[in-house]
Amino acid sequence: MKDKILYYVVGSQHLYGEETLKQVAEHAQEMARFLDSQEDNPVTIKYFDTVKTPQEVTDMCQKVNFDPQCVGIIAWMHTFSPAKMWINGLKILNKPMLHLNTQYNEKIPYDSIDMDFMNLNQSAHGDREFGHIVTRLRIRRKVVAGYYKDPNVLKQIFAFARAAAAAEKSKTLKVARFGDNMREVAVTEGDKVEAQTKLGWSINGYGLGDLVEYIDKVSQKEIDELIETYKEKYAFQKDMDLEAVKTQAKYQIALERFLQDGCFNAFTTTFENLHGLKQLPGLACQVLMEQGYGFGAEGDWKTAALTHLIKYMATGLEGGSSFMEDYTYHLEKGKQAILGAHMLEVCPTIAEGKPSLEVHPLGIGGKEPPARLVFEGKTGDAMLITLVDMGDRFRMIVNKARIIKSQAMPKLPVARVLWQPLPDMTTSAQAWILAGGAHHSVLTTQLELEHIQDFARIMDIELIVIDQNTEINRFENELMISDLVWKSKN
Ligand code: MN
Repeated sequence: MKDKILYYVVGSQHLYGEETLKQVAEHAQEMARFLDSQEDNPVTIKYFDTVKTPQEVTDMCQKVNFDPQCVGIIAWMHTFSPAKMWINGLKILNKPMLHLNTQYNEKIPYDSIDMDFMNLNQSAHGDREFGHIVTRLRIRRKVVAGYYKDPNVLKQIFAFARAAAAAEKSKTLKVARFGDNMREVAVTEGDKVEAQTKLGWSINGYGLGDLVEYIDKVSQKEIDELIETYKEKYAFQKDMDLEAVKTQAKYQIALERFLQDGCFNAFTTTFENLHGLKQLPGLACQVLMEQGYGFGAEGDWKTAALTHLIKYMATGLEGGSSFMEDYTYHLEKGKQAILGAHMLEVCPTIAEGKPSLEVHPLGIGGKEPPARLVFEGKTGDAMLITLVDMGDRFRMIVNKARIIKSQAMPKLPVARVLWQPLPDMTTSAQAWILAGGAHHSVLTTQLELEHIQDFARIMDIELIVIDQNTEINRFENELMISDLVWKSKN
């Protein structure tokens, strides 16, 4: 993500004279360098300029708009910058904005403060003037307030940086679909034209034959080499049918080549359309997800794209992110939990310990027993994120959760995760269902709610949050109000 740039833009005016403006620029450069040098900063943060006239504001907005490396701007008014100067520029700005209401000096220097100091350190009112015009123009942005070295301020800035980089990534995201949607399923459907218009996603279908051509070209040597890397990363089941593993290795190589040739970031499969394949791709999908590709089963291109974006947004963070499905409940009072899994395709980045590579028959699909990685999810805080098509817009739904240790399940040969959703299982399930949430989602242990809130704001899509504060009656009202708001917006 370091190739992505956030520009630090400072507003001022000529009233102050050369000497003060020089100081403003120096302070801003020092602050940008400080932000950039922080270990948790995922992108590059650079001082852009101190803009002092309407023309300079407009020029700045034009430049950042057409800078392919720029994912957004951080705006700050060290001094007072009359905000009518900003109108023309802000109207054309098409990059995400974070408004940082901060100050170069942490403290008021009580003993030495004079009018010069007051005139230089004016963000207390300069940032309010700026904020007014952004609100009046109805431009959605993130506002962060506080001393710029405060860890809590930095955390908010860096969350925005990740979301802004992912928003830029979203504009060029490509999904390859092998086979269509699972027949008769509603929630995995959606408007692909609207997805491209609103989110930038290019989603196109391919015949299984297109993939089979790639599969046929994979050499035995390539397969053998890949099996060696599996041996390093995974525990091999005793007496397993190695031919089944080789088949998945072949699929992995072919899929990866296909995705690379077409610059795809994500893909979908469906067990209803596997012509020319001997197995449902299981291990192959798991390893490709581990590498960062997005994946959606049953033709679910929304979750495939979202899985890739979440993985990208979380670049370098501890934990993992995976395609997920709510599978089975544990409804015993006091211990209520959801067991999440899929037929095969769960990403090993969320695994506790070394995944076990195994071959077992599959209940549905009528194909050969596929090789897959089997593991349990690592315990800790997590979030489930889904995107549904409401017919007139996309709605993103997030549920905070806690992954817990499960009892042994010796007869369940798939990767699985047991979690307790917040605020509690039944309220979460009520809320998720009322919101129209899918049975597919992205489970992440890497990101926090703030990342998703920033991303949804930048993409200008509806966001519904289910967390420790969710109370079902209030939630139902929130849904009704949100529905009205988003209907009127579209
Ligand atoms: Mn599914």
